[in-house]
Amino acid sequence: MSNEGGSKICVPILGESAEQMLVQMDKAKLLGADLVEIRLDYLQSFEPRRNLKLLIGRCPLPTVFTYRPKWEGGKYEGDEDERLDALRLAMEQGADYVDVEFKVASKFINSISQRKPEKCKVIVSSHNFHNTPSSDEIGDLATRMQAVGADIVKIVTTALDISDVLRIFQLTMNSQVPVIGLAMNERGLTSRLLCPKFGGYLTYASLEKGQSSAPWQPKIDDLLNIFNFRLLGPNTKVAGLIGNPVGHSKATTMFNPIFKTVEFDGVYVPFLVDDVPNFLKSFNSPNFVGWSCTIPHKEEALRSCDEVDPVAKSIGAVNTIIRKPDGKFIGYNTDYFGAISAIENKLRVLQNLPGGTGSPLSGKLFVVMGAGGTGKALSYGAKAKGARVVVANRTYSRAKEIADSVGGEALALAELENYHPEEGAILANTTCVGMQPNDNESPIPKHALKRYSLVFDAVYTPKMTRLLRDAEESGVTIVTGVDMFIIQAYEQYERFTNLPAPKELFWEVMSGY
Ligand code: NAP
Repeated sequence: MSNEGGSKICVPILGESAEQMLVQMDKAKLLGADLVEIRLDYLQSFEPRRNLKLLIGRCPLPTVFTYRPKWEGGKYEGDEDERLDALRLAMEQGADYVDVEFKVASKFINSISQRKPEKCKVIVSSHNFHNTPSSDEIGDLATRMQAVGADIVKIVTTALDISDVLRIFQLTMNSQVPVIGLAMNERGLTSRLLCPKFGGYLTYASLEKGQSSAPWQPKIDDLLNIFNFRLLGPNTKVAGLIGNPVGHSKATTMFNPIFKTVEFDGVYVPFLVDDVPNFLKSFNSPNFVGWSCTIPHKEEALRSCDEVDPVAKSIGAVNTIIRKPDGKFIGYNTDYFGAISAIENKLRVLQNLPGGTGSPLSGKLFVVMGAGGTGKALSYGAKAKGARVVVANRTYSRAKEIADSVGGEALALAELENYHPEEGAILANTTCVGMQPNDNESPIPKHALKRYSLVFDAVYTPKMTRLLRDAEESGVTIVTGVDMFIIQAYEQYERFTNLPAPKELFWEVMSGY
């Protein structure tokens, strides 16, 4: 069902006392919630008449009352009649919504048939903590929930695979009554973030981290200020990051503010993907424009695309997948351009070279640490710019394979400690060493760094890695992974939006990192 008023944000209020709940309600209003869900089962002591009057009378927002029993994932373990009495009382005292579990909904709705105030809506809810059933089963469940008299149907499932969210979207888009459809867990996160695009009645958002009522419920601040929740609608184009893990990426905090500033109707969200071919098959619709692709999927992405750009093919890794209007997927590699341009830009400034002249990498010795997707991209790029490439990797055979493909030399990573490069050599780290949470690690001892004229690190969380700190302290020029990250994103942006990349805006948005 199209959600004409726009999807709402509901903040669960989980205080242990009515007084704590009042404070949380005010905070929810301040942060921009549309309504609050008062979870009576979280109260340590509950005096229905007194507490409900206070909570309803003092709440600055419309209220949903939920008194969730243990058998449906809540905390209440007492008498069922008392539980339903409390919900009836909330309704009589002015609640805007009451949430009752499907198993008792028929009994509850029959009991209020003559007494239900016009403004109060009954949400009939069902929670599946095991999986996400088939579309037919979900559709059948929704029909049965509607038949018992639900004003709003709420179906919450557990996502075991990213494609499970598509069945939730199908439900919220096609229902004849308002529907709350959500999938729990990290693989279901997109169902929460994209609720306005697919017509969900509301999504739940926590006041802050640690105050959520379900796994992977986003914070209200993130929903509003990173994912631009209020700007999303049926026409919004979805881009995102596919990988595993995806939680560490800064791409959402880069693309979304830029989309908002340039008024592009798009959103960029994380997709925790296990199986790339299955993902592409499932998400092949005009709603999705394309994805950045990260660890461990860059090589699988190359095999899964219908077409691959020649540069990506030579590198052997794809970090950008674009869905063409005919439904075919084309893979690109923008890592190569990002890293090499960031290094060239710094060398040009250092050597006072005008732009447009030949590459400052030409003829230089370029030592690449790592032989994964990024190692291949940098080796290919350095070679393409006329550098002589040395690849050093923990697993020597992988270094050898890349070195052979670019006509370079291979080393074991440990050999770099005593390696003596010629003057002016560049050192680039493309291993994961130094990445959070292992911030204090470096792939090479500090004393070996002073022999290089420039050290680059692809790792960008943190921005100042141990390697870069060691290099700076040794008087060596550095280029960060954040510089690479920004430049590699230009082309992704252009392919997602069909607009020229607002380069200055990228640097402005990322200036805090
Ligand atoms: P990948 O394909 O998984 O390759 C990982 C590389 O790291 C391999 O060479 C591996 O060596 C090496 N490695 C892993 N653990 C190691 C250890 N403990 N000691 C020594 N070597 C180790 O990963 P990738 O996609 O190339 O990404 C690599 C890094 O680049 C990541 O930190 C990623 O975040 C970063 N990156 C940054 C950007 C950016 O825009 N700044 C873009 C892309 C990637 P073996 O072959 O021996 O396993």
